[in-house]
Amino acid sequence: MAETVTCAACGAEVVLEDPILLATCACGAEVRSRRHPREAGSDTEIDLYKVLGIDRGATEAEIRDAYRRRARETHPDVGGDAAEFQAVQAAYETLSDPSRRRSYDRTGRTGDRRRGPSGNVPDVVGMSPVEASRTLLTAGYVPRLMLRPVSGSSPLANRVIGQQPGPGAGLPPGAPVAIVVAVAEAGALWARVRELTRDFAQGVLDGFAAATSRSGRTRRIELDAGDTSRDRGRAVGAVAGSVTVGAVRTAGCLVRTVVWLAVTAAITVASFVIGLFRPALGIAVFVIAIVVLTLLVTRGYRLQRERWRSGDWV
Ligand SMILES: [Zn+2]
Repeated sequence: MAETVTCAACGAEVVLEDPILLATCACGAEVRSRRHPREAGSDTEIDLYKVLGIDRGATEAEIRDAYRRRARETHPDVGGDAAEFQAVQAAYETLSDPSRRRSYDRTGRTGDRRRGPSGNVPDVVGMSPVEASRTLLTAGYVPRLMLRPVSGSSPLANRVIGQQPGPGAGLPPGAPVAIVVAVAEAGALWARVRELTRDFAQGVLDGFAAATSRSGRTRRIELDAGDTSRDRGRAVGAVAGSVTVGAVRTAGCLVRTVVWLAVTAAITVASFVIGLFRPALGIAVFVIAIVVLTLLVTRGYRLQRERWRSGDWV
């Protein structure tokens, strides 16, 4: 059953397909179902015998037969109502268990500890999945998660946008309530990360090659990080390349060169990962780490020269 709601912001009509109760209009405003929850005052417990269509004196066999008949009639696969089907399930669960049935006959309650005060499904639309689950459990219902992908930038991401049965529906405790959670499309996010990583890596290789090439005597380090991932990669690669050249020249032995290279690679990877989420911070981390590394290299070079001069070079 679809519902047409008029957007309060722009007046456009938005169609909400069951079980969706919250959506965004093309103008960006949130549109909510106008189907109001039933008044909270109606504190009537549902009669489980009526749900199954039997009388109070029904035998266990009659209960089982009635359950099978009602389940067939209400099953959503044959066009039945999902809420009614769940009510039939829950009624059978109580009445088919002799001790639970006795307790129900005596008290008129199902004896489910998690039972809520009203027997009506709470309105969880718009909540976070955690909040919605907690609210449903407190009211005595079992949340069932349904996921619906939305674009990563949607304000609905990670919120409940629908529920089945809807808010205010009468439902025996212990019955499942499906909540539809909007999830940001992971596929789109990862495709973007892959794309950025590829561009950045290509940039690093370009910059590194330019900085370490033997052809040009003068190496120009371009720290001018452009807008694209590849530009940033090139700047990082250029700095990493020139530090490497310095390290190779001063380290004097293979082990130290390998250590310098590993440290440079680690700094590059770490600053890239940070830069994916906070580009400015990523560049800052990279520059600071490289400056520290360069100072260490230079200091090593100076110490070596002093040893040479004082003659205790071994
Ligand atoms: Zn609108």
